[in-house]
Amino acid sequence: MRVKSRDGREVDLKLERASALKMRLRGPLLAPGDPGYEESRTVWNAMIDRKPALVARCLGVADVIAAVRFAREHDLLLCIKGGGHNIAGLATADGALMLDMSLMRGVWVDERRKMARAQAGCLLGDVDRETQVKGSAAALGFVSLTGIAGLTLGGGFGYLTRRWGWTSDTVAGMDLVAADGRLVRASDDENPDLFWGLRGGGGNFGVVTGIDYTLFEVGPEVIGGIVAWPADEAPKVLELYRSLAESAPPELTLVALIRPAPPAPWLPNEWHGRAIVALLACHSGSLEAGEKAIAPIKSFGRPIGDVLVRRPYTQVQSLLDATQPKGRRYYWKSEYLPGVEPALCDSMIDHASRIRSPHAAVILFQLAGALNRLPNDHSAVGNRDARYVLNITASWDQAADDGANISWARDAWSAMKSYSTGGNYINFQTADEATERLASALGGNLARLAEIKARWDPENVFRTNRNIQPVA
Ligand SMILES: Cc1cc2nc3c(=O)[nH]c(=O)nc-3n(C[C@H](O)[C@H](O)[C@H](O)COP(=O)(O)OP(=O)(O)OC[C@H]3O[C@@H](n4cnc5c(N)ncnc54)[C@H](O)[C@@H]3O)c2cc1C
Repeated sequence: MRVKSRDGREVDLKLERASALKMRLRGPLLAPGDPGYEESRTVWNAMIDRKPALVARCLGVADVIAAVRFAREHDLLLCIKGGGHNIAGLATADGALMLDMSLMRGVWVDERRKMARAQAGCLLGDVDRETQVKGSAAALGFVSLTGIAGLTLGGGFGYLTRRWGWTSDTVAGMDLVAADGRLVRASDDENPDLFWGLRGGGGNFGVVTGIDYTLFEVGPEVIGGIVAWPADEAPKVLELYRSLAESAPPELTLVALIRPAPPAPWLPNEWHGRAIVALLACHSGSLEAGEKAIAPIKSFGRPIGDVLVRRPYTQVQSLLDATQPKGRRYYWKSEYLPGVEPALCDSMIDHASRIRSPHAAVILFQLAGALNRLPNDHSAVGNRDARYVLNITASWDQAADDGANISWARDAWSAMKSYSTGGNYINFQTADEATERLASALGGNLARLAEIKARWDPENVFRTNRNIQPVA
C-alpha cells in the first residue's frame, strides 16, 4: 500500500506490516473502502478533502502507544483527529496514519475535588453533560460538537472565560504519549516545561490521551440565549453592545453578530434569509443577577426574535450547533481586539452588508476578564491583552462559490485588521495562513516553544498541526 513518509515522500508499506499494526490494536484499523473510513477521514470543513492511508481508531492509551511506535518504526506521517473541527483541517493528511481518538470519550467527575478527567476524544458536550449532573462546568467553548483536545491545546474560550481564563488556564494536568512512545504526565509538578507548552502550543508535543479540568459551580440553570433585530438597527445595537460589554460583570459574556437570519424556528419565516443583527448572551451567576444584567437587552427596540431566557447550561452550550454543521465549506479570518471602536462597528456593518452566502457572519466575542490578569508567559497561549475576538466567518455550500466567499472574508479582514492587538487565535487560522500568523498568534512565547519541541519531539514526529520547528 502507498503511504507517506514523515518528510512527504510516497513509499510502500507492505500489507503484512499493516496487518502487524492491526494485531497490536484493540480498536479497528481502517483502510479506504472499509466501513467507517469515510466518517473518520472527513472533517468539519468540507474545503478539506484528504485521504489518510490508514486510520487507527484508538480505544485506549495502549492503542495510542502502539500506533505512535508503529509510525516511528516505519517513518510514517502521523496525524491526530480529536473532534475534527479545526478549520485548517489539521486532523487529516493524505497518505498518513491517522489516530482517530473519537472512541475515547469517557468523562469522570470528582465532585469533592472539583475536577473532571476527560479522555481526549471527547467533544465539549460530553464534558458539559457529565459535569452538569451536579451543577459544575469546565470552562470550554461555544459549540458542543467541537473537540476538547484541539480547543484546549490551542487555548480555548467560551462563556466562562471572563470568569476563569482561557480553557488551558483551568487545566490541572494532561497525559500524553510522547514521540518515543512513552506515556508521560504534564502538570505543574511533573514535566512543567511540557505542561507550559501544551497550554497553547497545540498538538506539537505528542498525543494527549486525557485532560484534567478544574470545575466551577455553574447552573444547572443559567440565563442564556439570543435576541435579534433587523440589520438596519445594527448601529444602535452595536452601540448597546459596546456600552454593556464594557460595564458587564464577569458572569456575563456578550457576543454580537450580523448575518442573514438562519431558518430557525424562533425567527419568523418571513425573516429567514434577511439580514439581522443579534446579541447572544450568557450570564453564569445567580438567576436574579442575570435577569438584571440582561434587562437592557430585553427592553431594547423592537426585536424580531427573543429567546434570551432561563434555561439549562447544557442547552446554552449547544444553541449554535445547528448553524455550524459538518460538511459545509468554511473560511475564517480572525483577530484579537483590545476594545471595540465605533469605527470598527461601522466596518462590521459595511462588510456584513456584502455577505455572499446565507450562512456567513461577522462576529464579536467578548473575552475581557480573568485571562488579562495573568502574565503573558504564564503558558504558551499568551495573548493576555486580548479583550475581544473578531471572527469573519464565510460559510457556503458549493465549491463553485469558493472564490466569492473567500474574497469577501479577506476583504472584510483587510478593512478591520488594523484594530487588532496584533495577535490572533491559532485555532481560528485557516489552511492558507502561514508562518507569520503562527508568530503573531504565539508572539514572544514561540522561541520557548521551539526549545520545548526540540526536547520532546526533536525529529518532528508530530507535524500535522500549526507546526513549531524544533530549535535546540
Ligand atoms: C463550529 C466551531 C466552533 C468553535 N468554537 C470555538 C469556541 O467557542 N472556542 C474556542 O476556543 N474554539 C472554538 N473553535 C475552534 C476550535 O478550538 C478548533 O477548531 C480546535 O482545533 C478544535 O479541536 P478538535 O479536537 O475538534 O480539532 P481537530 O481538527 O480534531 O484537531 C485540531 C488539531 O489538534 C490536534 N489534536 C487533536 N487531538 C489531539 C490529541 N489528542 N493530542 C494531540 N493533538 C491533538 C490535531 O492533530 C490538530 O493539529 C470552534 C471551531 C468550530 C469549527
